[in-house]
Amino acid sequence: MSAATRLTDKTTTARRAPLRTCISCRLQGSKRDFIRIVRTPEGAVRADPGGKGHGRGAYLGPVQHCWREALDQQRLNHALRTTLSDSDRQQIEAFIAGLPQDPCPNQTSLPGNEAP
Ligand SMILES: [Zn+2]
Repeated sequence: MSAATRLTDKTTTARRAPLRTCISCRLQGSKRDFIRIVRTPEGAVRADPGGKGHGRGAYLGPVQHCWREALDQQRLNHALRTTLSDSDRQQIEAFIAGLPQDPCPNQTSLPGNEAP
């Protein structure tokens, strides 16, 4: 009897969840780790926590840091290929206010980043 080497390739074809990337910090994760933002067919930009809104979407981490940075750096404009109106901005600001203030997970690993 020869030693049989069994190749179990089956595990490599396990289901794989599509990765999403935060447009602020570039952190990757599964869809449920992020909150979607969408440009509606009407041209408005709204947070889309349910992830079911129609239109061009982008993903952001579920913390204020990621959303504020996206607004400040105009990353949303770029990602959604639009320009946020004052109304859009106000709605998003209101949404951000309800998010936790935790630092972006990607930032916590940086050395010397402690709060004073
Ligand atoms: Zn982020």
